Amino acid sequence: MKSHVEEFLDSINDELKLSPSEKELLMHPVRSIIFPISVRMDSGEIKIFEAYRVQHNNALGPTKGGIRFHEEVTLEEVNTLAFLMSLKTSLSGLPFGGAKGGVKVDPKKLSKGELERLSRGYVRGLYPNLGPHKDIPAPDVNTTPEIMGWMLDEYETLLGESAPAVITGKPLALGGSRGRDVATALGGVYVLERMITLRNEKWLQDMTVVIQGFGNAGLNAAEILSKKGSRIIAVSDSSGAIVEKEYGLPVSVLIAGKKAGKSVTEMLSHGSLRNAQKISNEELLKIPCDVLVLAALGGQVTMQNVSQVKARIILELANAPITAEADTFLYKNDIYVIPDILANAGGVIVSYFEWVQNLYGYSWTKDEVFLKLQKQTTEVVGGIYEKGKNLRVCAYVKALKRILEAEQMRGRL
Ligand code: NAD
Repeated sequence: MKSHVEEFLDSINDELKLSPSEKELLMHPVRSIIFPISVRMDSGEIKIFEAYRVQHNNALGPTKGGIRFHEEVTLEEVNTLAFLMSLKTSLSGLPFGGAKGGVKVDPKKLSKGELERLSRGYVRGLYPNLGPHKDIPAPDVNTTPEIMGWMLDEYETLLGESAPAVITGKPLALGGSRGRDVATALGGVYVLERMITLRNEKWLQDMTVVIQGFGNAGLNAAEILSKKGSRIIAVSDSSGAIVEKEYGLPVSVLIAGKKAGKSVTEMLSHGSLRNAQKISNEELLKIPCDVLVLAALGGQVTMQNVSQVKARIILELANAPITAEADTFLYKNDIYVIPDILANAGGVIVSYFEWVQNLYGYSWTKDEVFLKLQKQTTEVVGGIYEKGKNLRVCAYVKALKRILEAEQMRGRL
């Protein structure tokens, strides 16, 4: 059976014919590490959690990528995400390769102390392979700036010196970058705005938006888009979805509710949501809209449900939310997909800014960070957009060519 990475590589074969050795190289990560993390639980018993780190390609620089805590994490998933990180850093012109990490755990079932011991254990298990010039982790699903702070502390304790550039997405007090919290969503909106101009679409203030996944990426996208005048007509999280087509949902109420720990469906009792209705996550994908933002997990749009998608544009803030076959279907049916390695690159771009600030002792203002982010994302879009072409294919080809050139210059191909 083909791996997801092989499927991705085969999907662009018409545009970029890889030689057998190029394909071999891209299909084999530099390093795949599986290790147990032993955690003393509050009850006194010891529990073992399986952890992974895949460093996919390091031709362009140290590897870079998030760590997710999720009970369904597998090595195959981490491997695919590490490959996508290599493409993402390459496409954005960053001096990084790609990596990804994960721990098979439901963090909601851990106490704060257990979560901290697990996070420190992850760093202890990987310590020889981490470093500001080796591999630089960051947050991903269910991992937070606070967790990055514990991980930094564990790394520096083992190293015996300060090394803030070993990890990004840290709290501001530990050298985190201003703007990192909203960077993924903001980068996605900058890309969307640039695409709208290039494709002569109507403006954001005239658009209706549906958002799958109301977490860090989706919530911030809702806030930024609604401030630009878009009507957010439906949002969802793992509890289900809510919809209000006529006037749109009150985004500030939803954000306040989410920050107070409520799920989106629990907010229906709020007075300003009296006209909203609860629907299922499957129904959310069927709502006609201008922009569908996918900001939950991977594999959400498949051949089983793709024919029901009624959006004109899809912004992939999540990683790999659409399967390769479903993506081809969408392209043939004129639904324009802005692919993950472009749409959600704002996160890793601002992580790069954080790394630079830590290495050189700079401290940039939010405005400086956002300006640099806007410039970088807009340039990337301009460098790959071709009228009528599948944007994912254009993005993959550009990213792969840069990696392969670096491999050749190193004499490894
Ligand atoms: P998060 O954990 O903060 O949010 C995820 C949200 O999705 C949660 O609200 C959850 O309830 C919801 N969800 C889960 N399953 C769902 C389903 N089946 N239907 C609807 N909603 C569902 O995570 P995040 O940081 O916002 O990341 C979301 C996605 O964006 C992930 O794929 C992640 O890899 C990607 N991403 C995030 C960043 C970042 O900086 N946060 C950067 C790049 C990519």
